[in-house]
Amino acid sequence: MRRPFRYFHRHDYFDALPDDLVVSVLSKLSSSAPSPSHFINVLLTCKRLKRLALHGLVLARAGPKVFTVKARNWSESTHRFVKLCVNAGNVHACYTLGMIRFYCLQNRKSGLALMAKAAMKSHASALYSLAVIQFNGSGGSKSDKDLRAGVALCARASLLGHIDALRELGHCLQDGYGVRQNIAEGRRLLVQANARELAYVIRSVSQSSMLPSRSSSLLTWHPHRYQNSPCSVDSSVSSPSNPEVHQPNWFLREWFESGRGVLAEGLRLCAHIGCGRPETRPHEFRRCSVCGKVNYCSRGCQSLDWKLRHKMECSPVELWIEDNGGVVVGGGGGGGVEADGEGGGADVANNVAVG
Ligand SMILES: [Zn+2]
Ligand SMILES: [Zn+2]
Repeated sequence: MRRPFRYFHRHDYFDALPDDLVVSVLSKLSSSAPSPSHFINVLLTCKRLKRLALHGLVLARAGPKVFTVKARNWSESTHRFVKLCVNAGNVHACYTLGMIRFYCLQNRKSGLALMAKAAMKSHASALYSLAVIQFNGSGGSKSDKDLRAGVALCARASLLGHIDALRELGHCLQDGYGVRQNIAEGRRLLVQANARELAYVIRSVSQSSMLPSRSSSLLTWHPHRYQNSPCSVDSSVSSPSNPEVHQPNWFLREWFESGRGVLAEGLRLCAHIGCGRPETRPHEFRRCSVCGKVNYCSRGCQSLDWKLRHKMECSPVELWIEDNGGVVVGGGGGGGVEADGEGGGADVANNVAVG
């Protein structure tokens, strides 16, 4: 049967487009797609688009938002797609798959290798994640901690503009942790990190001013919206620091809190809502020295969680010691953290004496 005239011509124009031109358009799409579905839907359109969308050049340029997969949607085919992007040399894919393999799939060696691959190409989040692994000796024993390597990785990530790395470096300098103590320089970096974070939040709010519901949710703290967590960030809103950088962290939290992944007996998640890193051995993370109820993978996470949530909840009640009828408060009121059962015992960030 003869096709209607207009349809015939439209169809013909697409078929006549050379492959390299279509690949160029698809590369632009993959680098700017605001969500995985905006790119994946192209694969489902027709055989030719599927073939060209899986071209190495297109996959290598895919932006971080193409990998914002939810933990509940993780499947063999998703894993295969991310692996294809890794093989095409995509750094965001290397970092995302590295985090998922290291923390969720317990494939530590492969996860580390992928994160290292991204770090070699100056991926700031990969550098910071490797720093957290070095600080904690994650995936190994306590003796695998390498504080100096952690500080060096943080320094490199902060030079690339990673706010959490800058904050971590500030705390390390302030406390002399893995580096010679320099309180003034540490404070300067902490002020810089806070200023950058504030600038990011203001920019996010101004960009979303056309969407009143989203901008108001960025500014409002909802105490009970986030299920299965005492903390309260709207899970649809990314961390203020950088939504792209922190996506794998949301994946980790969702993975363990949804029950998709099960933490071994005695292991805990970092208490900061935007982190999601789990312990890889018992007592790996430091705990709050005041209440002893929450644990953190890093000084940066502890400091952020203190500001966002924990200062409202931290209570030294269980540490009060009756002393001749008087009451002694055991610890700093500013959310000091101490090593939990692993020696060290040094209080870290934000120790503020209680009255
Ligand atoms: Zn953390
Ligand atoms: Zn506490």
